[in-house]
Amino acid sequence: MISPTVGAAPELERLGDEIAELSAHVDAATARLLDLIRDFDARGGWGNGFRSCAHWLTWRAGLDPGAARERVRVARALGSLPRLAHALARGELSYSKVRALTRVATPATEERLLRVGQAGTAEHVERIVRAWRRVDRISEAKQSIQRHPSRALHVYQDEDGMVVVRGRLEPETGAVLVKALEAARESLYPAGHARNVSAETRSAAIHPETGLLVCEDTPTWGQQQADALALLAETALHNGIDPGTPGERYQVVIHVDAPVLAESDASGAPDAPGQSVFEDGTHVSVATSQRLACDATRVVMQHDADGRVTEVGARTRTIRRALRRALHHRDRGCRFPGCGLPFGQAHHIRHWAHEGPTTLLNLAMLCRRHHRAVHEEGYQVERLSDGELRFRRPDGQLFADVPPPTLVAAEPAELLRAQNDAKGLRIHPRTAIPDWFGERLDVGWAIDVLHPLAIEEIRRTSQAAV
Ligand SMILES: [Zn+2]
Ligand SMILES: [Zn+2]
Repeated sequence: MISPTVGAAPELERLGDEIAELSAHVDAATARLLDLIRDFDARGGWGNGFRSCAHWLTWRAGLDPGAARERVRVARALGSLPRLAHALARGELSYSKVRALTRVATPATEERLLRVGQAGTAEHVERIVRAWRRVDRISEAKQSIQRHPSRALHVYQDEDGMVVVRGRLEPETGAVLVKALEAARESLYPAGHARNVSAETRSAAIHPETGLLVCEDTPTWGQQQADALALLAETALHNGIDPGTPGERYQVVIHVDAPVLAESDASGAPDAPGQSVFEDGTHVSVATSQRLACDATRVVMQHDADGRVTEVGARTRTIRRALRRALHHRDRGCRFPGCGLPFGQAHHIRHWAHEGPTTLLNLAMLCRRHHRAVHEEGYQVERLSDGELRFRRPDGQLFADVPPPTLVAAEPAELLRAQNDAKGLRIHPRTAIPDWFGERLDVGWAIDVLHPLAIEEIRRTSQAAV
Protein backbone atom coordinates (compact mmCIF):
# COMPACT_ATOMS: atom_id res chain seq x y z
CA MET A 1 0.00 0.00 0.00
CA ILE A 2 1.25 3.46 -0.89
CA SER A 3 -0.37 6.28 1.00
CA PRO A 4 0.12 9.75 -0.44
CA THR A 5 2.09 12.11 1.72
CA VAL A 6 -0.07 14.57 3.60
CA GLY A 7 -0.11 17.93 1.90
CA ALA A 8 0.69 16.47 -1.53
CA ALA A 9 -2.97 16.12 -2.52
CA PRO A 10 -3.27 19.20 -4.78
CA GLU A 11 -0.07 18.24 -6.49
CA LEU A 12 -1.33 14.69 -7.10
CA GLU A 13 -4.62 16.12 -8.32
CA ARG A 14 -2.67 18.08 -10.93
CA LEU A 15 -0.67 14.99 -11.86
CA GLY A 16 -3.89 13.02 -12.32
CA ASP A 17 -5.35 15.80 -14.47
CA GLU A 18 -2.26 15.81 -16.59
CA ILE A 19 -2.51 12.04 -17.13
CA ALA A 20 -6.17 12.30 -18.09
CA GLU A 21 -5.55 15.21 -20.42
CA LEU A 22 -2.57 13.68 -22.16
CA SER A 23 -4.49 10.38 -22.55
CA ALA A 24 -7.27 12.26 -24.33
CA HIS A 25 -4.66 13.92 -26.57
CA VAL A 26 -3.18 10.51 -27.37
CA ASP A 27 -6.66 9.14 -28.18
CA ALA A 28 -7.30 12.06 -30.51
CA ALA A 29 -3.97 11.37 -32.19
CA THR A 30 -4.88 7.67 -32.39
CA ALA A 31 -7.93 8.63 -34.43
CA ARG A 32 -5.62 10.36 -36.88
CA LEU A 33 -3.35 7.30 -36.91
CA LEU A 34 -6.31 5.03 -37.68
CA ASP A 35 -7.37 7.33 -40.54
CA LEU A 36 -3.90 6.99 -42.03
CA ILE A 37 -3.91 3.20 -41.57
CA ARG A 38 -7.32 2.93 -43.23
CA ASP A 39 -6.14 4.98 -46.19
CA PHE A 40 -2.85 3.07 -46.48
CA ASP A 41 -4.69 -0.25 -46.26
CA ALA A 42 -7.36 0.68 -48.80
CA ARG A 43 -4.73 1.83 -51.28
CA GLY A 44 -2.70 -1.35 -50.80
CA GLY A 45 0.37 0.49 -49.55
CA TRP A 46 1.57 -2.71 -47.86
CA GLY A 47 1.21 -4.72 -51.07
CA ASN A 48 4.85 -4.78 -52.05
CA GLY A 49 6.37 -7.48 -49.98
CA PHE A 50 3.88 -7.90 -47.14
CA ARG A 51 1.07 -10.35 -46.54
CA SER A 52 -1.30 -7.82 -45.01
CA CYS A 53 -1.52 -4.34 -43.62
CA ALA A 54 -1.20 -5.73 -40.09
CA HIS A 55 1.94 -7.57 -41.09
CA TRP A 56 3.38 -4.33 -42.46
CA LEU A 57 2.55 -2.56 -39.16
CA THR A 58 4.44 -5.17 -37.15
CA TRP A 59 7.48 -4.54 -39.32
CA ARG A 60 7.35 -0.80 -39.76
CA ALA A 61 5.69 0.45 -36.59
CA GLY A 62 6.92 -2.32 -34.29
CA LEU A 63 3.47 -3.40 -33.11
CA ASP A 64 2.97 -6.95 -31.90
CA PRO A 65 0.87 -8.99 -34.36
CA GLY A 66 -2.27 -8.96 -32.20
CA ALA A 67 -2.20 -5.19 -31.67
CA ALA A 68 -1.48 -4.64 -35.37
CA ARG A 69 -4.45 -6.75 -36.47
CA GLU A 70 -6.64 -4.91 -33.99
CA ARG A 71 -5.55 -1.47 -35.29
CA VAL A 72 -6.37 -2.49 -38.84
CA ARG A 73 -9.71 -3.96 -37.81
CA VAL A 74 -10.71 -0.84 -35.86
CA ALA A 75 -9.46 1.44 -38.65
CA ARG A 76 -11.59 -0.40 -41.20
CA ALA A 77 -14.64 -0.46 -38.92
CA LEU A 78 -14.44 3.28 -38.22
CA GLY A 79 -14.67 3.89 -41.96
CA SER A 80 -18.41 3.20 -41.72
CA LEU A 81 -18.94 4.43 -38.13
CA PRO A 82 -18.52 8.22 -38.35
CA ARG A 83 -19.93 9.02 -34.91
CA LEU A 84 -17.54 6.75 -33.06
CA ALA A 85 -14.70 8.01 -35.25
CA HIS A 86 -15.59 11.62 -34.44
CA ALA A 87 -15.77 10.99 -30.69
CA LEU A 88 -12.32 9.36 -30.76
CA ALA A 89 -10.92 12.20 -32.87
CA ARG A 90 -12.11 14.72 -30.26
CA GLY A 91 -10.55 12.77 -27.42
CA GLU A 92 -14.00 12.24 -25.90
CA LEU A 93 -14.01 8.46 -26.22
CA SER A 94 -10.92 6.43 -25.43
CA TYR A 95 -9.34 4.05 -27.94
CA SER A 96 -10.09 1.16 -25.56
CA LYS A 97 -13.79 1.95 -25.61
CA VAL A 98 -13.84 2.48 -29.37
CA ARG A 99 -12.00 -0.80 -29.86
CA ALA A 100 -14.62 -2.65 -27.84
CA LEU A 101 -17.59 -0.86 -29.41
CA THR A 102 -16.42 -1.47 -32.99
CA ARG A 103 -16.64 -5.21 -32.33
CA VAL A 104 -20.42 -4.97 -32.40
CA ALA A 105 -21.39 -1.57 -33.81
CA THR A 106 -23.10 -1.24 -37.17
CA PRO A 107 -24.28 2.02 -38.77
CA ALA A 108 -27.74 1.20 -37.41
CA THR A 109 -26.64 0.70 -33.78
CA GLU A 110 -23.74 3.13 -33.71
CA GLU A 111 -25.64 6.02 -32.13
CA ARG A 112 -26.85 4.08 -29.13
CA LEU A 113 -23.48 2.36 -28.63
CA LEU A 114 -21.81 5.75 -28.67
CA ARG A 115 -24.05 6.73 -25.76
CA VAL A 116 -23.00 3.53 -23.95
CA GLY A 117 -19.39 4.60 -24.47
CA GLN A 118 -20.02 8.11 -23.14
CA ALA A 119 -22.04 6.98 -20.14
CA GLY A 120 -20.02 4.03 -18.91
CA THR A 121 -16.47 3.25 -17.86
CA ALA A 122 -14.26 1.14 -20.10
CA GLU A 123 -15.14 -1.86 -17.96
CA HIS A 124 -18.91 -1.26 -18.39
CA VAL A 125 -18.43 -0.92 -22.12
CA GLU A 126 -16.49 -4.18 -22.21
CA ARG A 127 -19.23 -6.03 -20.33
CA ILE A 128 -22.03 -4.66 -22.46
CA VAL A 129 -20.17 -5.51 -25.64
CA ARG A 130 -19.63 -9.05 -24.39
CA ALA A 131 -23.33 -9.49 -23.64
CA TRP A 132 -24.20 -7.88 -26.97
CA ARG A 133 -22.03 -10.40 -28.80
CA ARG A 134 -23.75 -13.25 -26.96
CA VAL A 135 -27.08 -12.09 -28.37
CA ASP A 136 -25.47 -11.77 -31.82
CA ARG A 137 -23.99 -15.24 -31.56
CA ILE A 138 -27.27 -16.84 -30.56
CA SER A 139 -28.98 -15.26 -33.56
CA GLU A 140 -26.08 -16.28 -35.78
CA ALA A 141 -26.40 -19.87 -34.58
CA LYS A 142 -30.12 -19.79 -35.34
CA GLN A 143 -29.38 -18.35 -38.76
CA SER A 144 -26.80 -20.99 -39.57
CA ILE A 145 -29.21 -23.78 -38.58
CA GLN A 146 -31.70 -22.26 -41.01
CA ARG A 147 -29.07 -21.85 -43.72
CA HIS A 148 -27.58 -25.33 -43.53
CA PRO A 149 -30.36 -27.24 -45.39
CA SER A 150 -30.31 -24.73 -48.23
CA ARG A 151 -26.80 -25.69 -49.34
CA ALA A 152 -26.74 -27.07 -52.86
CA LEU A 153 -24.58 -27.45 -55.94
CA HIS A 154 -26.02 -28.09 -59.37
CA VAL A 155 -23.89 -29.02 -62.36
CA TYR A 156 -25.60 -29.47 -65.71
CA GLN A 157 -24.85 -29.25 -69.39
CA ASP A 158 -26.22 -26.40 -71.47
CA GLU A 159 -27.52 -26.82 -75.02
CA ASP A 160 -24.20 -25.77 -76.53
CA GLY A 161 -22.28 -28.32 -74.52
CA MET A 162 -20.89 -25.94 -71.90
CA VAL A 163 -21.24 -27.11 -68.33
CA VAL A 164 -23.10 -24.73 -66.03
CA VAL A 165 -22.31 -24.65 -62.31
CA ARG A 166 -24.70 -23.04 -59.86
CA GLY A 167 -24.77 -23.35 -56.13
CA ARG A 168 -25.28 -22.00 -52.63
CA LEU A 169 -22.56 -22.78 -50.12
CA GLU A 170 -22.40 -22.20 -46.42
CA PRO A 171 -20.08 -19.30 -45.58
CA GLU A 172 -17.21 -21.46 -44.33
CA THR A 173 -17.37 -23.81 -47.32
CA GLY A 174 -17.58 -20.81 -49.59
CA ALA A 175 -14.53 -19.31 -47.94
CA VAL A 176 -12.53 -22.48 -48.60
CA LEU A 177 -13.65 -22.46 -52.22
CA VAL A 178 -12.75 -18.80 -52.66
CA LYS A 179 -9.34 -19.42 -51.07
CA ALA A 180 -8.68 -22.41 -53.29
CA LEU A 181 -9.76 -20.53 -56.42
CA GLU A 182 -7.49 -17.69 -55.43
CA ALA A 183 -4.51 -20.02 -55.02
CA ALA A 184 -5.20 -21.70 -58.35
CA ARG A 185 -5.69 -18.37 -60.11
CA GLU A 186 -2.41 -17.11 -58.70
CA SER A 187 -0.64 -20.12 -60.16
CA LEU A 188 -2.20 -19.58 -63.56
CA TYR A 189 -2.14 -15.80 -63.70
CA PRO A 190 0.71 -14.20 -61.79
CA ALA A 191 -0.07 -11.00 -59.87
CA GLY A 192 0.22 -7.71 -61.70
CA HIS A 193 -1.41 -9.40 -64.67
CA ALA A 194 -4.37 -6.96 -64.64
CA ARG A 195 -6.35 -8.63 -61.89
CA ASN A 196 -9.82 -7.24 -62.29
CA VAL A 197 -10.36 -7.06 -65.98
CA SER A 198 -14.05 -6.96 -66.71
CA ALA A 199 -15.64 -7.92 -69.99
CA GLU A 200 -16.18 -4.25 -70.91
CA THR A 201 -12.55 -3.21 -70.55
CA ARG A 202 -11.20 -6.16 -72.49
CA SER A 203 -10.62 -4.42 -75.75
CA ALA A 204 -9.37 -1.19 -74.13
CA ALA A 205 -5.64 -0.73 -74.23
CA ILE A 206 -5.37 1.06 -70.87
CA HIS A 207 -7.17 -0.14 -67.79
CA PRO A 208 -9.18 2.86 -66.51
CA GLU A 209 -8.42 2.31 -62.83
CA THR A 210 -4.97 0.81 -62.69
CA GLY A 211 -3.62 2.62 -65.72
CA LEU A 212 -1.93 -0.63 -66.67
CA LEU A 213 -1.74 -1.75 -70.24
CA VAL A 214 -4.24 -4.53 -70.68
CA CYS A 215 -3.47 -6.90 -73.51
CA GLU A 216 -6.45 -7.89 -75.52
CA ASP A 217 -5.81 -11.53 -74.83
CA THR A 218 -5.81 -11.08 -71.04
CA PRO A 219 -8.54 -13.38 -69.80
CA THR A 220 -11.39 -11.67 -67.98
CA TRP A 221 -11.92 -12.19 -64.29
CA GLY A 222 -14.65 -14.72 -65.00
CA GLN A 223 -12.44 -16.61 -67.41
CA GLN A 224 -9.62 -16.69 -64.89
CA GLN A 225 -12.02 -18.06 -62.28
CA ALA A 226 -13.15 -20.76 -64.68
CA ASP A 227 -9.54 -21.75 -65.39
CA ALA A 228 -8.82 -21.78 -61.67
CA LEU A 229 -11.75 -24.12 -61.02
CA ALA A 230 -10.44 -26.48 -63.69
CA LEU A 231 -7.04 -26.47 -62.08
CA LEU A 232 -8.61 -27.19 -58.67
CA ALA A 233 -10.48 -30.20 -60.01
CA GLU A 234 -7.42 -31.57 -61.75
CA THR A 235 -5.27 -31.07 -58.70
CA ALA A 236 -7.82 -32.75 -56.43
CA LEU A 237 -7.98 -35.83 -58.67
CA HIS A 238 -4.24 -35.89 -59.10
CA ASN A 239 -3.72 -36.05 -55.33
CA GLY A 240 -6.49 -38.53 -54.65
CA ILE A 241 -8.48 -35.83 -52.82
CA ASP A 242 -5.97 -35.56 -50.04
CA PRO A 243 -4.36 -32.30 -48.87
CA GLY A 244 -0.96 -34.07 -48.99
CA THR A 245 2.36 -33.10 -47.48
CA PRO A 246 3.66 -29.55 -47.97
CA GLY A 247 5.99 -30.47 -50.83
CA GLU A 248 3.16 -32.03 -52.75
CA ARG A 249 0.39 -29.67 -51.79
CA TYR A 250 0.59 -27.59 -54.92
CA GLN A 251 1.31 -30.39 -57.29
CA VAL A 252 0.54 -29.04 -60.68
CA VAL A 253 1.90 -30.68 -63.77
CA ILE A 254 3.77 -28.38 -66.06
CA HIS A 255 5.90 -29.23 -69.02
CA VAL A 256 8.91 -26.99 -69.15
CA ASP A 257 11.69 -27.03 -71.67
CA ALA A 258 15.03 -27.18 -69.92
CA PRO A 259 16.26 -23.93 -71.58
CA VAL A 260 13.16 -22.09 -70.32
CA LEU A 261 13.79 -23.17 -66.76
CA ALA A 262 17.42 -22.13 -67.05
CA GLU A 263 16.44 -18.73 -68.46
CA SER A 264 18.39 -16.27 -66.36
CA ASP A 265 16.18 -13.25 -66.98
CA ALA A 266 13.38 -14.03 -64.55
CA SER A 267 11.33 -11.12 -65.83
CA GLY A 268 11.31 -12.64 -69.30
CA ALA A 269 8.31 -12.33 -71.53
CA PRO A 270 5.45 -14.60 -70.47
CA ASP A 271 5.45 -16.37 -73.77
CA ALA A 272 9.16 -16.69 -74.32
CA PRO A 273 10.07 -19.25 -76.94
CA GLY A 274 10.26 -22.75 -75.59
CA GLN A 275 7.67 -24.67 -73.72
CA SER A 276 6.29 -23.80 -70.32
CA VAL A 277 2.87 -25.25 -70.42
CA PHE A 278 0.34 -26.78 -68.07
CA GLU A 279 -1.08 -30.11 -69.11
CA ASP A 280 -4.19 -28.32 -70.28
CA GLY A 281 -2.08 -26.19 -72.61
CA THR A 282 -1.99 -23.01 -70.52
CA HIS A 283 1.29 -21.15 -70.85
CA VAL A 284 2.94 -19.74 -67.77
CA SER A 285 5.76 -17.26 -67.50
CA VAL A 286 9.35 -18.28 -67.11
CA ALA A 287 9.38 -16.84 -63.59
CA THR A 288 6.30 -18.79 -62.57
CA SER A 289 7.62 -22.09 -63.86
CA GLN A 290 10.85 -21.45 -62.02
CA ARG A 291 8.92 -20.86 -58.82
CA LEU A 292 6.74 -23.91 -59.24
CA ALA A 293 9.79 -26.04 -60.00
CA CYS A 294 11.79 -24.55 -57.12
CA ASP A 295 10.24 -26.80 -54.48
CA ALA A 296 8.53 -29.55 -56.39
CA THR A 297 8.58 -33.12 -57.42
CA ARG A 298 10.09 -33.30 -60.83
CA VAL A 299 10.01 -35.82 -63.61
CA VAL A 300 12.46 -35.35 -66.41
CA MET A 301 11.16 -36.40 -69.80
CA GLN A 302 13.03 -36.33 -73.03
CA HIS A 303 11.03 -35.35 -76.08
CA ASP A 304 12.03 -35.79 -79.70
CA ALA A 305 11.58 -32.97 -82.18
CA ASP A 306 7.94 -33.94 -82.78
CA GLY A 307 7.18 -33.78 -79.07
CA ARG A 308 6.98 -37.55 -78.59
CA VAL A 309 8.31 -38.68 -75.24
CA THR A 310 11.39 -40.77 -75.76
CA GLU A 311 12.52 -41.27 -72.19
CA VAL A 312 11.02 -40.77 -68.75
CA GLY A 313 13.33 -40.40 -65.77
CA ALA A 314 12.49 -41.43 -62.22
CA ARG A 315 10.27 -39.12 -60.20
CA THR A 316 12.55 -37.27 -57.82
CA ARG A 317 11.63 -35.00 -55.03
CA THR A 318 13.81 -31.95 -55.46
CA ILE A 319 14.16 -31.65 -51.70
CA ARG A 320 14.45 -34.83 -49.71
CA ARG A 321 12.57 -35.35 -46.51
CA ALA A 322 15.56 -35.19 -44.16
CA LEU A 323 16.81 -32.01 -45.78
CA ARG A 324 13.36 -30.44 -45.53
CA ARG A 325 13.28 -31.27 -41.84
CA ALA A 326 16.69 -29.70 -41.36
CA LEU A 327 15.54 -26.62 -43.26
CA HIS A 328 12.43 -26.29 -41.07
CA HIS A 329 14.58 -26.68 -38.01
CA ARG A 330 16.99 -23.97 -39.13
CA ASP A 331 14.66 -21.39 -40.67
CA ARG A 332 11.51 -21.95 -38.56
CA GLY A 333 9.33 -20.33 -41.18
CA CYS A 334 9.47 -17.67 -43.84
CA ARG A 335 12.75 -15.76 -43.83
CA PHE A 336 11.45 -12.70 -45.68
CA PRO A 337 12.04 -9.60 -43.53
CA GLY A 338 9.30 -9.24 -40.94
CA CYS A 339 7.23 -12.20 -42.19
CA GLY A 340 7.81 -15.10 -39.82
CA LEU A 341 4.94 -17.24 -41.13
CA PRO A 342 5.75 -20.60 -39.51
CA PHE A 343 5.56 -22.67 -42.69
CA GLY A 344 6.67 -22.28 -46.24
CA GLN A 345 8.29 -23.59 -49.35
CA ALA A 346 11.95 -24.31 -49.86
CA HIS A 347 13.45 -21.73 -52.16
CA HIS A 348 16.68 -22.42 -54.04
CA ILE A 349 18.69 -19.20 -53.75
CA ARG A 350 20.41 -20.29 -56.94
CA HIS A 351 17.84 -22.30 -58.90
CA TRP A 352 18.61 -25.98 -59.47
CA ALA A 353 18.09 -25.37 -63.17
CA HIS A 354 21.11 -23.06 -62.95
CA GLU A 355 23.14 -25.79 -61.28
CA GLY A 356 22.26 -24.48 -57.83
CA PRO A 357 22.81 -27.30 -55.36
CA THR A 358 19.99 -28.61 -53.18
CA THR A 359 21.84 -28.02 -49.92
CA LEU A 360 20.95 -26.18 -46.74
CA LEU A 361 23.30 -23.39 -47.71
CA ASN A 362 21.50 -22.79 -50.99
CA LEU A 363 17.99 -23.09 -49.53
CA ALA A 364 15.84 -20.59 -47.68
CA MET A 365 12.32 -21.09 -46.48
CA LEU A 366 9.78 -18.62 -47.87
CA CYS A 367 6.02 -18.54 -47.49
CA ARG A 368 3.91 -18.80 -50.62
CA ARG A 369 3.45 -15.03 -50.82
CA HIS A 370 7.14 -14.30 -50.54
CA HIS A 371 8.22 -17.15 -52.76
CA ARG A 372 6.27 -15.33 -55.44
CA ALA A 373 7.94 -12.06 -54.45
CA VAL A 374 11.42 -13.39 -55.18
CA HIS A 375 10.52 -15.25 -58.37
CA GLU A 376 7.97 -13.02 -60.02
CA GLU A 377 8.11 -9.59 -58.41
CA GLY A 378 11.79 -8.82 -58.65
CA TYR A 379 12.78 -9.13 -54.99
CA GLN A 380 16.26 -10.57 -54.59
CA VAL A 381 17.78 -12.74 -51.93
CA GLU A 382 21.37 -13.76 -51.44
CA ARG A 383 23.27 -15.54 -48.73
CA LEU A 384 26.25 -13.65 -47.37
CA SER A 385 29.49 -15.38 -46.43
CA ASP A 386 28.51 -15.29 -42.74
CA GLY A 387 25.40 -17.32 -43.57
CA GLU A 388 22.95 -14.42 -43.14
CA LEU A 389 20.36 -13.74 -45.82
CA ARG A 390 20.13 -10.37 -47.50
CA PHE A 391 16.97 -9.23 -49.26
CA ARG A 392 16.69 -6.41 -51.76
CA ARG A 393 13.68 -4.61 -53.17
CA PRO A 394 13.06 -4.73 -56.92
CA ASP A 395 14.85 -1.36 -57.22
CA GLY A 396 17.96 -2.89 -55.63
CA GLN A 397 17.52 -1.16 -52.26
CA LEU A 398 18.27 -3.21 -49.18
CA PHE A 399 15.20 -4.56 -47.43
CA ALA A 400 16.10 -4.24 -43.76
CA ASP A 401 14.96 -6.85 -41.26
CA VAL A 402 14.24 -4.00 -38.89
CA PRO A 403 13.42 -0.59 -40.37
CA PRO A 404 15.44 2.42 -39.21
CA PRO A 405 13.92 4.02 -36.10
CA THR A 406 11.62 6.99 -36.63
CA LEU A 407 12.91 10.29 -35.27
CA VAL A 408 10.61 11.64 -32.58
CA ALA A 409 10.55 15.23 -31.35
CA ALA A 410 12.22 15.86 -28.00
CA GLU A 411 8.90 16.79 -26.39
CA PRO A 412 6.36 14.56 -28.16
CA ALA A 413 3.59 15.34 -25.67
CA GLU A 414 4.02 19.11 -26.17
CA LEU A 415 4.04 18.65 -29.94
CA LEU A 416 0.88 16.54 -29.74
CA ARG A 417 -0.88 19.18 -27.62
CA ALA A 418 0.17 21.91 -30.02
CA GLN A 419 -1.08 19.94 -33.03
CA ASN A 420 -4.41 19.14 -31.40
CA ASP A 421 -4.81 22.78 -30.29
CA ALA A 422 -4.06 23.92 -33.84
CA LYS A 423 -6.87 21.65 -35.04
CA GLY A 424 -9.25 23.42 -32.67
CA LEU A 425 -9.56 20.56 -30.19
CA ARG A 426 -10.20 21.85 -26.68
CA ILE A 427 -8.99 18.90 -24.67
CA HIS A 428 -8.95 19.22 -20.89
CA PRO A 429 -8.71 16.77 -17.97
CA ARG A 430 -12.46 16.07 -18.04
CA THR A 431 -12.86 15.61 -21.80
CA ALA A 432 -13.21 11.82 -21.64
CA ILE A 433 -14.93 11.51 -18.29
CA PRO A 434 -18.02 9.24 -18.36
CA ASP A 435 -21.44 10.38 -17.12
CA TRP A 436 -21.48 7.51 -14.64
CA PHE A 437 -22.34 8.37 -11.03
CA GLY A 438 -21.27 5.05 -9.52
CA GLU A 439 -24.56 3.14 -9.77
CA ARG A 440 -24.43 -0.62 -10.38
CA LEU A 441 -24.45 -1.69 -14.04
CA ASP A 442 -27.31 -4.04 -14.92
CA VAL A 443 -25.99 -5.64 -18.11
CA GLY A 444 -29.17 -7.68 -18.75
CA TRP A 445 -31.33 -4.58 -18.59
CA ALA A 446 -28.87 -2.60 -20.72
CA ILE A 447 -28.96 -5.23 -23.48
CA ASP A 448 -32.76 -5.42 -23.32
CA VAL A 449 -33.09 -1.72 -24.02
CA LEU A 450 -30.18 -1.44 -26.46
CA HIS A 451 -29.80 -4.50 -28.67
CA PRO A 452 -32.19 -4.45 -31.66
CA LEU A 453 -32.75 -8.23 -31.52
CA ALA A 454 -33.47 -8.14 -27.79
CA ILE A 455 -35.93 -5.28 -28.29
CA GLU A 456 -37.65 -7.26 -31.03
CA GLU A 457 -37.80 -10.36 -28.83
CA ILE A 458 -39.40 -8.40 -26.00
CA ARG A 459 -41.94 -6.90 -28.41
CA ARG A 460 -42.82 -10.36 -29.73
CA THR A 461 -43.27 -11.94 -26.29
CA SER A 462 -45.34 -9.01 -25.03
CA GLN A 463 -47.57 -9.27 -28.09
CA ALA A 464 -47.92 -13.02 -27.49
CA ALA A 465 -48.87 -12.27 -23.90
CA VAL A 466 -51.61 -9.95 -25.09
ZN1 LIG B 1 12.13 -20.46 -55.30
ZN1 LIG C 1 6.65 -14.77 -45.94
